[in-house]
Amino acid sequence: MKAVVKYAPGEGNVELREVEEPRPGPHQVKVEVKAAGVCGSDIHIYHGDIKLPVRPPVIMGHEFAGVIAELGEGVQGLQVGDRVTCETAAYVCGECLQCRTGSYNICPHKKLIGYFFDGCFARYCLVGEERVHLLPDNVDFVAGALSEPLACCVHALLELTCISAGDVVVITGPGSIGLLCLQLVKAEGGYAIVCGTSQDGDRLEMARCLGADVTVNVEAQDVSKLVEEVTDLQGADVFVECSGAPAAARLGLDVTRRGGQYIQVGLFSGPFELDFGLIAYKELKVTGSLGQKWTAWRRGLTLLGQGKVDTKSLVTHVLPLTRWREAFQIFEEKKGLKVVLQPVD
Ligand SMILES: [Zn+2]
Ligand SMILES: [Zn+2]
Repeated sequence: MKAVVKYAPGEGNVELREVEEPRPGPHQVKVEVKAAGVCGSDIHIYHGDIKLPVRPPVIMGHEFAGVIAELGEGVQGLQVGDRVTCETAAYVCGECLQCRTGSYNICPHKKLIGYFFDGCFARYCLVGEERVHLLPDNVDFVAGALSEPLACCVHALLELTCISAGDVVVITGPGSIGLLCLQLVKAEGGYAIVCGTSQDGDRLEMARCLGADVTVNVEAQDVSKLVEEVTDLQGADVFVECSGAPAAARLGLDVTRRGGQYIQVGLFSGPFELDFGLIAYKELKVTGSLGQKWTAWRRGLTLLGQGKVDTKSLVTHVLPLTRWREAFQIFEEKKGLKVVLQPVD
């Protein structure tokens, strides 16, 4: 089968290769990939600058949906033909404090498909039975391929943050993660202010279509002033940082109200200066969020099935796997929002 393979560490070193079809071992499921999303971390793997463990040669890709093609020995509760999507944590130790308390998303030994184990940029992909989730009947493969980023946002906003109806929530970074967070904020009854830059014109437009109450170009408008107006000088109840830009983090500590919540979802490219004292002065509740776990997948898929979240609108391009290079380029040049690849024979 054809697969997009990161064949050596460092910059680039990715190509479309002919590889052998995998065979499921005990308690593994072989999934025929129908749609696979390109993620920001794929671009980082391409450039060789990601901080998570990567083991080349490895088939890239970790966001997908498909159909079960074959069951390994001992698999229970799943059948060939089931429409599924799968978690990315192919290995967690099961023994650390985090694993034992259900937070395997922060297991220090976690290894992911598409990074360390073969991923979904191919016709077939192997996953452990415990990581498989059934797709709701009314969710198609392209929409289902975005279950992974959705689960990340569900973990951040519904598991680690408390949003009540009427809360004013500021979101920075209107990429697919920001726009999924926006939809969850709306599902919770929050008032959403989505911030982007001049480069994000189309994305802010999309934010409005997906229910943002206000969108802001931070280069043209004063966000602090706007938040003051909307909240009667109180400040935002919740700040959701999805951009990974230091300026956005500073803005967050600035515009969040005393006693409010700040959640960091985006990843920064390195250390930077921040007025950390504000966290004490304002008694802010600051939380980070990394990846997702079973509970977040369940909730995300339920919301998707209920139509409370729309992942499909975020997909701007669907391309055959052979055009992976173009897909990466579209993503990197911000020409589209979410690019989905479809395997070829
Ligand atoms: Zn991803
Ligand atoms: Zn562990």
